[in-house]
Parts: sequence; structure tokens; C-alpha cells
Amino acid sequence: MSTAPASSAEALLRVEQVSAGYGLMPVLHGLSIEVRAAEIVALVGSNGAGKTTLLRVLSRLLPCTGTLRFNQDLAAMTPDQAFGHGLVQVPEGRQLFDRMTVQDNLLMGAFRRHDKAAVARDLQRMYQLFPRLGERRRQLAGSMSGGEQQMCAMARALMAAPVLMMIDEMSLGLAPVIVDQLTEVLAEIRKNGVTVLLVEQDVQVALGAADRAYVIENGRVTLAGPARQLIDDPAVQQAYLGV
Ligand code: ATP
Repeated sequence: MSTAPASSAEALLRVEQVSAGYGLMPVLHGLSIEVRAAEIVALVGSNGAGKTTLLRVLSRLLPCTGTLRFNQDLAAMTPDQAFGHGLVQVPEGRQLFDRMTVQDNLLMGAFRRHDKAAVARDLQRMYQLFPRLGERRRQLAGSMSGGEQQMCAMARALMAAPVLMMIDEMSLGLAPVIVDQLTEVLAEIRKNGVTVLLVEQDVQVALGAADRAYVIENGRVTLAGPARQLIDDPAVQQAYLGV
């Protein structure tokens, strides 16, 4: 298994030799990954490997050195510009507006969109994609279960009409049956042309949902390849799957 990114001139997202950190503490060390349009790509690795840090870099919340391309020069964009170009994050811990209803949370996701008819259509689409949210559209988001809140966070991100949706720790703390439902939704989202970058500590979940994956250790890519091959990789099995 190689650590080289799948080479493609038309990658939607290209991260090349990126280094970043907090103050004087380096976290990412010359990390390179690629994500092509309509792929589901997972970043896996243990606690503190730098996965969330990479998402912060991609959302432009953290400065970096190296190359960041998201169709154009992503490194030159502000967080707001990156969001405007369709780079939307579902943050770890969901960060919903707890005292607002489910529906208002979803509408907040669409706050930059002006086509009211398209927003209304997408809202209905969200309720088809997540019927539970439809049933609970008037419930306060903070009073829902963890799984429902994760659905709400994903639907809110989708209401922004993302090109690339980045999800940080989708499965954290959720029952396996809910995680399976969310994984099915990811496949559905991709069918609709949205590209997904999934950060997961649960390697089984990540490799089950993704087309390709990168293993990140100490801020570097140590393995990369099709998810199905990585599941069978002895190093992955030993380090992450308890085999
Ligand atoms: P986890 O799944 O545990 O969140 P991760 O791979 O996402 O792991 P990061 O959150 O990117 O890891 O953290 C990478 C390193 O950066 C860790 O050593 C962490 O302590 C450090 N770090 C993260 N956020 C900050 C911060 N705001 N200030 C200083 N150090 C930070």
C-alpha cells in the first residue's frame, strides 16, 4: 500500500505538502491528500493525529504552508469565502443552535442562499433524507438525541448546498444502528453529487463508508488507498481494527 495520493489532474480538493500547527507546536508535517468530485474519502487515525487540525486548515480557520487547491487557490481564501465556494463543515460535537427548532437550524444552514423556492425544496428533501427530522421539525434541537442531532447537523450543512461536505467524527457516541443509517445517507448524498471528506476515529465505520481513505499518524499520511484494500491491510488491522 502506498502513501502517495491517488493522482488526478482534476482533483476537486488538492492538499500538497501542508504544514500547520498551534503557536510554536507543529501538528501537520508536509501532509498531502486529494479528493475527487463525488468521492467519499475518509481520514482515519488515532487521537491527536491531526485530523481535526487538517479540517481547520481546509476551512481556513488555521494558517498553513504548502498548497491548498479547491478548484482555485483555497489558501488565499477567508473562511467565509471558502464556505461561499461550497466547502462546508459538520463540526465535531455538532454545534447546533440548541434553543432553536430543527427547522430553524436547517434554515440557518441556507442563510447565504437567496433562491427561496430552491431553499424550500431542499428543506423538503432533507425531511425525505432524514424522516426523523421531519417528524421533529418543531422540536428544539438541544432536546433531541445524539443521533437526531447528528442528522440535524448534517442536514444543516446540506442546506448550504455544499460542493464538499467535511464531517468531523460523524459516529462519535452514536449507536451502531444510527451509524448505519448515517452511512446510508452519505451514499445518497454522494449520488446527488456532493463530495464527502469524513474524519473518523472509528476505522471500521470510516472504511465501511468511504471509497478511499488516508491513515494519518503524527500529522503525516502513513497509508493511503481504496477503503476495501485498507480494511485488509495487516498494519491497519493490527493498529486500528484489533485483529
Ligand atoms: P481527535 O480525534 O482526538 O480530535 P485529531 O486527529 O483530530 O484527534 P487534532 O484535534 O487535530 O487531532 O489535534 C492534533 C494535535 O493538536 C493534538 O496534539 C492537540 O492537542 C493539538 N491541538 C488541537 N487543538 C489545539 C489548540 N487549539 N491549541 C493547541 N493545540 C491544539
